[in-house]
Amino acid sequence: MADSATKPDLLVLLCSPRGFCAGVVRAIDSVERALALYGPPVYVRHEIVHNRYVVDSLRAKGAIFVEELGEIPETTAPVIFSAHGVAKAVPEEAGRRNFFALDATCPLVTKVHREAEIHHKRGREIVLIGHQGHPEVIGTMGQLPAGAVSLVETLEDAAAFVPQDPERLAYVTQTTLSLDDTAEIIALLKRRFPAIVSPHKKDICYATTNRQEAVKKVAPLVEAMIVVGAPNSSNSRRLQEVAERSGCAHAALVQRAADIDWSRFGAIARLGITAGASAPEVLVEEIIDAFAERYTVRVETVSAADEDVFFPLPRVLREQSNPEAAE
Ligand code: SF4
Repeated sequence: MADSATKPDLLVLLCSPRGFCAGVVRAIDSVERALALYGPPVYVRHEIVHNRYVVDSLRAKGAIFVEELGEIPETTAPVIFSAHGVAKAVPEEAGRRNFFALDATCPLVTKVHREAEIHHKRGREIVLIGHQGHPEVIGTMGQLPAGAVSLVETLEDAAAFVPQDPERLAYVTQTTLSLDDTAEIIALLKRRFPAIVSPHKKDICYATTNRQEAVKKVAPLVEAMIVVGAPNSSNSRRLQEVAERSGCAHAALVQRAADIDWSRFGAIARLGITAGASAPEVLVEEIIDAFAERYTVRVETVSAADEDVFFPLPRVLREQSNPEAAE
């Protein structure tokens, strides 16, 4: 470790907003509150949010993570659905098995589910812009019968898409996409199908939007960027892409300080740091501390938006919380 006399200077530009969004806070708080109210175990279908540190912390408190309800034995313990949302078949199965199900789906994902349902009821075929295999996409497609929703991932997909009736078409999107990529795909769909119905308010959520905007401001000012987040976190991966496209030579997605490849950060003088919506601030602090061991660090914040969004807990958790726990 270098002493302060020999450590090179490093200006760290911290993107703001970064890290936890309101949907992630609500999902994590749902598991915490269920553990406090009912005691362990609390079953959680899928990682409650895509962050290993968060998942490991909740596991240590008594949460049991499963991928499918079939892995859960008969139980009266709570069964929580993750922030990403689930296909309709999942609560139906939970109902058949008399599970005490708690839905921690982000309200902004639920909004997309309801939009898709309304389009379907009005006889529209739905294009879902999103990434195949992501749990949110599986959940949104699973709101409707097979064939009602077509997935478009790329411009090429949008160019090749053949609707049943171009006059009865609507689109919805995953909440955590790249703003710019999605705008291009939507523009192409609108050129090809002028009657396509858009969401009233865009589906890419406020948190994804603000975090990408902050990265766009910082990326041209720095030689490298750290995105704190998990490789399976869609919004974190988009932040890495946005950083590179906005002029930053090297953007690294890392989960912990131990993941940093120091050979890529040798002679830099300016570093950007952001965090995906599922990454806790403690990990950002860990990264800054790791840089401070090697550089004389000065930190400045670059802000793209103020956020004050808050989502209340699922109703049953609010109703059953005692006043002290609800504070
Ligand atoms: S990233 Fe957006 S949609 Fe996803 S949980 Fe956060 S607020 Fe909700």
